[in-house]
Amino acid sequence: MIDKLSRYGASIFSTMTGLAIKHNAINLAQGFPDFPVDPRLIELVNKAMVDGYNQYARPIGAPDLHREIESLIFGNYGRSIKGEEELTIYPGASTAIYIAVQAIINPGDEVIIFEPAYECYAPAIEIFGGIVKPIRLRPPDFTIDWEEVSSVFSDKTRLIILNNPHNPTASVWNREDFEALSGLVDERDCYILADEVYEFINYTDEGHLSIHSHEHLREKAVAVSSFGKSLHVTGWRMGYCVAPVEVTVAMRKINQFSVFCGNHAVQKGIADYLRLYFDSAKLRKEFMIKRDLVVDMLVASKWKTLPCNGSYFIMMDYSGISDLPSKEFAEWMVSKNSVALIPCSPFYSDTYDPKLVRLCFAKKEQTLKEAIEKLCKV
Ligand code: GLN
Repeated sequence: MIDKLSRYGASIFSTMTGLAIKHNAINLAQGFPDFPVDPRLIELVNKAMVDGYNQYARPIGAPDLHREIESLIFGNYGRSIKGEEELTIYPGASTAIYIAVQAIINPGDEVIIFEPAYECYAPAIEIFGGIVKPIRLRPPDFTIDWEEVSSVFSDKTRLIILNNPHNPTASVWNREDFEALSGLVDERDCYILADEVYEFINYTDEGHLSIHSHEHLREKAVAVSSFGKSLHVTGWRMGYCVAPVEVTVAMRKINQFSVFCGNHAVQKGIADYLRLYFDSAKLRKEFMIKRDLVVDMLVASKWKTLPCNGSYFIMMDYSGISDLPSKEFAEWMVSKNSVALIPCSPFYSDTYDPKLVRLCFAKKEQTLKEAIEKLCKV
C-alpha cells in the first residue's frame, strides 16, 4: 500500500492558510505570529552561522542548548534532568511526537487521546498500527471525564497523549486531572506523552502545571515542548523532548536514521538567547493582553467566546450566526467575510461537529482589530 494515510486529506492548517491567501483574507487560522521576531535572536542565530555552526549538530542536540533546557526545566519545575540520557532536540515538536509514538507503540496497542485533538496525533498512531481511543472533552470548559477514561483504559493501553495547554480548546489541566491520571497509570505498562508546546502561554493564577513537576508521573512521561511557540519562530522547527531513558534510546535510534539532527546554528542561537534574554513572564503578559482584546471586542457581537486559560487560541461559538457545519462555515467566513479561522470538525475522529471555530490571536494589535471589526459585522 502506497498511501498508508489515505483516509486523511490535507492539513486543515495549510488548507485554511491557502484559502486566506486565495481570498486575500486576514489569517487568524493557522497558529503562527505575524509580528517580528526579537532582533537579538536573529542576530544570535546569524552570529552562530558566522561563527561556524553550519555543520551537523550532535544528533541528541547541541551541548549549549542542552544546558539551557536543563536549567529552564529546573528553574520552572524544579526537576533535574540528565540531558545526556533523557533530552533530545528534534526538528519541531511534531517530529518528536511522531518519533515517540513510533518508538513506543506496537501494532494493536491502544492510545488514548482527548478530542478535539491536535491533528497529528491520530495519523501517527494509525500509521504505526495503533488503535486510537478518543475521549471527548466536555464543553464549554473542555474538562475530562475521568470515569470515561477509566472505562476505556485496558491492558492494551500503551500510551495516553495529553496536550496542556490545549490546542484547539485553550483549556488547561488542573491538579485533580494529574491525580486522576496518576491513579490510572500506576502499576500499568503505559506511557504518557505530554505535549506542552504552549507551556509558557498559561493565563491561570497558579501558572502552568507541567508533567515535569510530578515526581511520579514524569517517570513514565515523554514531555515535548517547542521553541517555535515560545520564541515566535514556528518556521525554524525547533522542538525538544525529555523521556525516560529506555524511550529516549529507542527514539534516538529512529531520529539518527531519519532526520539525524536539528539545525545547528539555530540551536546555538537559541541557546544563547535563552541564557541572555528569554523572559517567559513577558511572553505570557503580551499574549494575555491580546486574548483580552479579542474577548472584549467580541462581547457585543453574535459570537460567543469560550474560556481561554492557555495557548494563543480561543474557541468561538457561532451558533448565533449560522447552522452550517464548521468546515463549511469557515469556508464561508474566509471567502465572504475575509477572515480565516479553523473549523472544529477536523479535530474529531467521528462526525461530531459542534458549532465552534478556533481563532489564533498571536497577531499584531492592528491585525486583530481589523479582523474583529469584520467578525463583528457578520
Ligand atoms: N500548531 C499550529 C496550529 O495549531 C499549526 C502547525 C502546522 O500548521 N503544522 O495552528
